[in-house]
Amino acid sequence: MAKKQKTFAEKALGGKSGVPICPKCGQSFEPVMVINSEKKSDSNAWKFSKTIEKVCKCNEKEVYA
Ligand SMILES: [Zn+2]
Repeated sequence: MAKKQKTFAEKALGGKSGVPICPKCGQSFEPVMVINSEKKSDSNAWKFSKTIEKVCKCNEKEVYA
């Protein structure tokens, strides 16, 4: 399960200047913050990790899955 907070992720990357372009599809990468949650098997504690993914047409299906 993953949550997307695009606005926050864009702020975290400092706006739209210097947006990298994907060499494969030619689309500019879109920064998306992905929060992954993972439940530990030996306790009821949830572990959360945040990552900022650069999304383009090549990987959007994986990131938004
Ligand atoms: Zn691409």
